[in-house]
Amino acid sequence: MASYSSRERAGKTVVAAGTGNLKPLYVKLHPDDTVAIIVNEGGLPAGARFDSGLVLTEAVPEAHKVALVDIAAGEPILRYGSIIGYAEQAIPRGSWVHEGIMRMPDPPSLDNLPICTAVPAPLPPLEGFTFEGYLNDDGSIGTKNILGITTTVQCVAATVDFAVKRIKAEILPRYPNVDDVIALTHTYGCGVAISAPGSEIPIRTLRNISLNPNLGGAPMMVSLGCEKLQPVQLLPITTLPILSDAPYVVRMQDEQHHGFGDMVAAIMTMAERRLVQLNTRTRVTRPASDLVVGMQCGGSDAFSGVTANPALGYAADLLVRAGATVMFSEVTEVRDAVHLLTARAANEQVARDLIREMAWFDDYLTRGSADRSANTAPGNKKGGLANIVEKALGSTAKSGTSALAGVFGPGERVTKRGLIFAATPASDFVCGTLQLAAAMNMHVFTTGRGTPYGLAMVPVIKVASRTSLAQRWADLIDVDAGRIATGEATIEEVGEQIFRLILDVASGRKQTWADHWGLHNDLALFNPAPLT
Ligand code: CA
Repeated sequence: MASYSSRERAGKTVVAAGTGNLKPLYVKLHPDDTVAIIVNEGGLPAGARFDSGLVLTEAVPEAHKVALVDIAAGEPILRYGSIIGYAEQAIPRGSWVHEGIMRMPDPPSLDNLPICTAVPAPLPPLEGFTFEGYLNDDGSIGTKNILGITTTVQCVAATVDFAVKRIKAEILPRYPNVDDVIALTHTYGCGVAISAPGSEIPIRTLRNISLNPNLGGAPMMVSLGCEKLQPVQLLPITTLPILSDAPYVVRMQDEQHHGFGDMVAAIMTMAERRLVQLNTRTRVTRPASDLVVGMQCGGSDAFSGVTANPALGYAADLLVRAGATVMFSEVTEVRDAVHLLTARAANEQVARDLIREMAWFDDYLTRGSADRSANTAPGNKKGGLANIVEKALGSTAKSGTSALAGVFGPGERVTKRGLIFAATPASDFVCGTLQLAAAMNMHVFTTGRGTPYGLAMVPVIKVASRTSLAQRWADLIDVDAGRIATGEATIEEVGEQIFRLILDVASGRKQTWADHWGLHNDLALFNPAPLT
């Protein structure tokens, strides 16, 4: 059996006082930090005393920050060893440090970033870890065996949904090796500026989702006929010879269809041809290097960067060591930590690619008269995250400690192994959709506030940042990383648990809660181009 040695992580200090369940606890992440996070469920009252001698001068809610030292007006406030803000007023030791008394720092300039100044040495390889997956003709590996029906335009969505219901009820039961039939419906395809700058993003997203490893490399397509996004533009014959022998496109306006019944029958006939092919496939043992794991967070709180994201970062390191592809995304959630990532880039080109994606998104937000501060949601703030800088430092923790091996644009298919940044907005459904296009075959999602998020195409493992959420949502959360905050588990232990769960779920041996309940969010395309 393969094994790996545990590695040293940045020193995390858990300070406790008293005894029993009510003992006041805080977590300080970095020796230089001037604030720490309150662990106790429900927060702590004024007068609460910690082992360190610190006494709260006022009540501090759970997951919010307490000043560890006297902070003078104008002085930086440090968390993760980085500046998350400046004090707008004098903040005495023991008081609540919240958004209202902090000023947000400017984002790092993209002009003078450190390039490859702290490239980590390759981590020791991890041999012998495998999973059971479906081998596709293009060499990719599925963790599910699904028939996906691609659509060129929203006009056909309801018809395809109707056909899929009948396929699942009447045909799928005869093909037991196929897990599911899903309609890839969306709002794109017509009424859009199909050639405008930015339109390549939704188009390549749809194309690459149709080629996701979990769809067996066997796309079929339903088109209306008159729409702007024509089938050959969505899946060009040059990139997909299989479509040239026709039968894998149904065009509803074709003259052979007399009425709705004919159209549905044509879709069902085409679907059954694919189901016959997909049903011949069985799982085969594959190395863990065939995994393409997408990571993201949603509904983050101040614990996300203490527990769930560092544990996922440890799992990411294990995946990289096993030769897998592991990607993180969400541009606005790394923008304020970009200087840490350009320094970690494996080579100058990777750093330049990262800066290019950051600059593109800065410009995109500016055009919409928004900036990165629009990211932080009310629930983030209630969960103790004062601003996007603090959120970004915590979010980046899931990238682990390895070198950044590659950067890809929104909707591009990732073709490299190692740690990858796949640029996406932070919106959960848009990020998930773009990671599906990037060829993700497993997804890990960390959350502090909680979300029932799931995807039809790829299993979603959900990791809670707090034990109170994991217990309250015991039938939605797959991994409780909150045990790290209370000292019951280490980052390494939870990271290893996530890594092993990825292998089990990818193999079909275990099921996520989202799949158990069939919680599958809609695809949500990122279209930065105009509608017409
Ligand atoms: Ca997100």
